[in-house]
Amino acid sequence: MLVVMDAHATEDQVRAVCEKIESVGLRTHAIPGAQRTAIGITGNQGMVEIGLEDMPGVQEVIRVSKPYKLVSRDVKSENTVVAFPGTDTTIGGTDLAVIAGPCAVESRQQAFAAAEHVAKAGARFFRGGAYKPRTSPYAFQGLGEEGLRILAEIRERLGLLIVTEAVDYESLDLVERYADMIQIGARNMQNFSLLKRAGKARKPVLLKRGMSATLEEFLMAAEYVMSEGNYQLVLCERGVRTFADHTRNTLDLSIVPAVHRLSHLPILVDPSHGTGKRDKVIPLSRAAIAVGADGLIVEVHPDPDRALSDGPQSIYPEQFEELMSEMRQIAPIVKRTVPQPVAVAATNIR
Ligand code: PEP
Ligand code: MN
Repeated sequence: MLVVMDAHATEDQVRAVCEKIESVGLRTHAIPGAQRTAIGITGNQGMVEIGLEDMPGVQEVIRVSKPYKLVSRDVKSENTVVAFPGTDTTIGGTDLAVIAGPCAVESRQQAFAAAEHVAKAGARFFRGGAYKPRTSPYAFQGLGEEGLRILAEIRERLGLLIVTEAVDYESLDLVERYADMIQIGARNMQNFSLLKRAGKARKPVLLKRGMSATLEEFLMAAEYVMSEGNYQLVLCERGVRTFADHTRNTLDLSIVPAVHRLSHLPILVDPSHGTGKRDKVIPLSRAAIAVGADGLIVEVHPDPDRALSDGPQSIYPEQFEELMSEMRQIAPIVKRTVPQPVAVAATNIR
């Protein structure tokens, strides 16, 4: 159920409606929009009749038939713009967001080398896993908290915002403490208890699409995060499993306009995991921007041949510069902008 307030409803009226809903054991999500506030109601609503229609300030009460509510444009018609306190960087506004860096933080030297390159080329966000969900238990699993410390140092020294994956409760506590954005990986898209924990976090969440998730399953996973009160959420298409074997996954770019139609949440595209092949990253990045994605998350490694994970899909720093330059040319066609690089002093960490 959704309560749409009048454009002129007062804060007291919104609060009174929320209190009435909460008095029957349901949860409220007051979501202010440009025109009016909508109050999403979650919890098991069964046949509860609350009698909200006649309350002061209420315009209408809508029964939402879709299984997801808070992620839907029914609740909020304007696009969500995720902001990062203390910066002018956003995801979902006019600026395209670029998150770049290696698959994994392997060492301080490797992470700093990658970070300097991507910052100079214009990325505002740095990625790098400290906890790696690997198919083989014998493959490199990440540096753990030590990796997070390196990432935090990169933020301090280079001013990049840090995006890194949490794989369980314990790592989520740590990622929330050290990073600027919490990544939930494809393999955990339906880890409902982890999604609920991310919903309680006070940092934005980047939710990757599961490798066989439908659009509805993807939006329901996002609903888990929002239903716990975290509305700072960004989706990410990273390819799905198909019969095609010329790429690691099949990048489903058609989900970008499909998400934009149904949801106010931003969506990024990951052409690295989406193709698994370095030579396909730039072409699919162009396509992602052209199709209307709100930005990219791309793997960049200073020495991909020696990468401890995902080397074959990691692009070289020079290719990343080329990618940024092409993005700047494509962005105006889709009425988007690419932020200028921030000034970066060399750190000389070797
Ligand atoms: C990653 O971003 O390094 C990653 C493991 O991605 P995904 O969850 O999409 O496989
Ligand atoms: Mn990877």
